[in-house]
Amino acid sequence: MAKIKDRLDVVEVLSGYMKLQKAGINYKGRCPFHNEKTPSFFVSPERQIWHCFGCGKGGDFFEFVKEIEGVEFREALKILASKAGIELEQFQSKPGESIDAKQKLLEICELATKFFEKQFQSSSGKEALAYLHDRGLTDASITEFRLGWAPNDWESLSVYLQTRGYQEKEIVDAGLAIKRSIESGREGVYDRFRSRIMFPIFEVSGQVVGFTARVFEPSSAKSGQPGLAKTGETMAKYVNTPQTLIYDKSRVLYGLSKAKLDIKKSDRCILVEGNMDALMSFQAGVRNVVASSGTALTPTHLRLLQRYTKNLGFCFDTDQAGAMATRRGIGLALAQQFNISILEIKDPECKDPADYVKKYPAGAGTSGAGGSSWADVVANAKPVIDYYFDRARSSYNPTSAESKKQIISAVAPFIKRLAGSVERAHWISQLSSLLRVPESAVSADIATFKDDLDVYTREDTVSQTPIAQSAPAPHEAPDVINEMILSLVLKAPTLLRDEIMTIEDNLVDDRTTNIIRQVVEEPFDNTQGKPFEFKTFATRFMGEEALQLEFAYLRSQELWQGFDDETLKTEFHNVINTARRRLINTRLTNLQFDVKEAEANKDQNRLTQLAGEFNELARQLILTHHLYGSKEKNKEIVQETEEKTESQVSSTEETSI
Ligand SMILES: [Zn+2]
Repeated sequence: MAKIKDRLDVVEVLSGYMKLQKAGINYKGRCPFHNEKTPSFFVSPERQIWHCFGCGKGGDFFEFVKEIEGVEFREALKILASKAGIELEQFQSKPGESIDAKQKLLEICELATKFFEKQFQSSSGKEALAYLHDRGLTDASITEFRLGWAPNDWESLSVYLQTRGYQEKEIVDAGLAIKRSIESGREGVYDRFRSRIMFPIFEVSGQVVGFTARVFEPSSAKSGQPGLAKTGETMAKYVNTPQTLIYDKSRVLYGLSKAKLDIKKSDRCILVEGNMDALMSFQAGVRNVVASSGTALTPTHLRLLQRYTKNLGFCFDTDQAGAMATRRGIGLALAQQFNISILEIKDPECKDPADYVKKYPAGAGTSGAGGSSWADVVANAKPVIDYYFDRARSSYNPTSAESKKQIISAVAPFIKRLAGSVERAHWISQLSSLLRVPESAVSADIATFKDDLDVYTREDTVSQTPIAQSAPAPHEAPDVINEMILSLVLKAPTLLRDEIMTIEDNLVDDRTTNIIRQVVEEPFDNTQGKPFEFKTFATRFMGEEALQLEFAYLRSQELWQGFDDETLKTEFHNVINTARRRLINTRLTNLQFDVKEAEANKDQNRLTQLAGEFNELARQLILTHHLYGSKEKNKEIVQETEEKTESQVSSTEETSI
């Protein structure tokens, strides 16, 4: 780990994930972890840390990689080690699964991807490429997702890989070749994927671990319509890499490595069925999209997504199978407490998102041929109950008892699972007025309804195969006011010395108090030519404390740059007053409860005493407003606090007078 720290630089690592701009001694950019228009994300090459003033996240580059890749420390270490070109033998994952064997398979998959990419130049490959263009894919998307072509040949890939030094067994282990049977009378292996369009499957970190292959027969090999092979009955439309040491279809979602950042940013993931759906959506600018890629969605898939968001938008194919898959996926997602919405494709000519994006390309707008863009479809997703309720209502036949039952069965599972009783009551009343049945009867029906989603909930608890890493614990954002105070202390410890000494207890948290105490005890003095030196000072601190100090220092560099002494003093007073108001507000809130209690007990003496305390706090509060003007930077904080204070003061007055 020390080696990695030496070889990599925070700016370099972060630049691989986001755009950074040099701004003075530091770098800044738009935070990848929250949505913002103006950059409040800063990186210090000198201190090797990053910190966002907006959402409070920050740390070293390990912390960044963990956060952005959604991985735990060990995986982050692996990613960074490969960037630094360091072998990580000491971090071998499981006994028996040597890094070497896995590494070999990854290399083979990477080589195979390159091989397939090149085959687009062959004559059969050109036809496959034309087919993809016809489906609406651009060259940019094809390149970005590294699609390729497996020619109709029994050995071309295997032979190629062997010339590159890989053993037959390794090629078979990677899932790319199959051992010939004894009956065939021949030795050796043959290629698994022939005459197929290849979609590499990337692991979260971006490495190719397997393939999804779509059958395609070029015209030279058959006579018939282009696209699906004539011998389609015997050839599956899609074939996946079998389970290998590096590929487990229940754990990989197609497109996640490219979509994860957008999923985090938008705090939402769109789930589609096919690779083409994901690709076309990505191409249309809706990039927070992943595909279950022909395999059924698993609880493990969902646990993987939980690292990035709790909000899912389902858009499965419009056919019967798609509806079933959606229902099943919803059941699983509900079991993991996802918020679910449904995307509706209303054009009957489009059976899936890929068709839809092709028919209504991005930018076509809502005025197009009667359909809105894919981005609009995504934006107009309906919460899951609304979706099923609206659908049931549109097909409701009031004269049929069966129809009533169908409506109940469509929405009951969701109403049952609603956490809020208000929301539940709302839906029961909706159903009651639609069906013209008393609410009590609807309630009873829902309670006794045999739940089709229960199956999936149970399935999830049975197959509790934990994913390699659970979601990283969200880093607790440091308190902004504490950080502002400390940043000023670090900016001008000598200038503010007198003021710093007057900071009363409880105004800042213990950790900040401790750091501040050490700053003022430091034997520094500008007049003696010994300025406060952060670099040496920082070496005293470790862990969370050190991080807090670094964040404050970065803020002091960025926020108080070029301020004159007088302004710095004003800023300090303002921030201290903000902290005081916060403290007084807390006390006022507590006082309210005391007053209520005293009133309930009819304790006149106590009430008089509390009124006195109230007056004193109110006086202090007014003082914090009068000392200095309010042209400060932290105006918003002050305003916010003021609003809160006013409402609390007035409510306290009502109760106490
Ligand atoms: Zn941020």
